[in-house]
This record gives sequence, C-alpha cells and structure tokens, in this order.
Amino acid sequence: MKMQTLNDLMVDVARDMLDAEKQLAKALPKMAKAASHPELRQAFTKHLEETKVHVERMAQVLEALGHAARGKKCKAMEGLIEEGKEVLEMEAAPETRDAALIAAAQKVEHYEIAGYGTLSTWANTLGLPEVKKLLGDTLAEEKTTDGLLTELAESIVNVEAAAT
Ligand code: FE
Ligand code: FE
Repeated sequence: MKMQTLNDLMVDVARDMLDAEKQLAKALPKMAKAASHPELRQAFTKHLEETKVHVERMAQVLEALGHAARGKKCKAMEGLIEEGKEVLEMEAAPETRDAALIAAAQKVEHYEIAGYGTLSTWANTLGLPEVKKLLGDTLAEEKTTDGLLTELAESIVNVEAAAT
C-alpha cells in the first residue's frame, strides 16, 4: 500500500492494531490459565473481555476511515506473544511464573499504549473526533490494565516470588 498521506499511514497502523488485538485475544486465556495467583488470573480474564471489545472498536475505526475491517499481521505482537509462550513453558515456581507473566503482559500493554497513543494523536490532527473517542476509550483501558498489573506485582506477586 502506498503511504501518500497521514490518513494512509493511519489506516496501515490501525490494521496492525486490529491484528495485534486479535492475537492477544487468543493468547490471554493461556496466560490466565498459567497464572497461579487468583487476582492475576482475574486480571487476565477481565482484560480478555476488554480485548474482545478492542477488536470490535478497531473494526469500527477502520470502517470510519472508509476501509474494510481487515487486519495486517502485527509482527511485534507476534514476537511479544512468542516470548510470553516461553514463560508458559518454562520450569518455574508458581510465584516466579506469575512475576514473569506480569512482565510479559506489561510489554504487551506498553506496545498497545504506544500504538493507541499515536493513532489517537493522528485522529486529532486529522479532525476525526469519533475515531479519536474510540481510540481514547481503548487507550484508557490499556493504561488501567498496565496500572493494575504494576499494583499486583508490587503489592503481592513480586513479594511472594522473592520469598520463594
Ligand atoms: Fe487492547
Ligand atoms: Fe491490552
């Protein structure tokens, strides 16, 4: 696809994010299953439900931009999930695996936060308030999830892992 305008670039990045969200929706159930602390499992399960909504919102964004809701393989998310898989497969104490799961999940959230931050700024520049709203809603949920993971790590999981 030829990148002539900021709008073209926005469509390209939006398609990347749609695929990223779809990949994450597939990976999160495995991460929830691997989590040992109930609050961490709950955090992953909750974010799975939000992620399904993120897929829907990205489809709406692409449609609002006049494009089919078709993703484009996100190699970055593929790599992050690949690394997450190593956490699922490694031999580890449950508390230590939980700490590793949080580390992997926060890398994912930060990737999403960067992507949505960029898209949301572009939507603003291009004068697309409805698109900006959709992106902003998702961005807020990614940030909340990241914060929750930090809180779980600092208050429970890291402490338990350090005591293992
Ligand atoms: Fe998301
Ligand atoms: Fe997320």
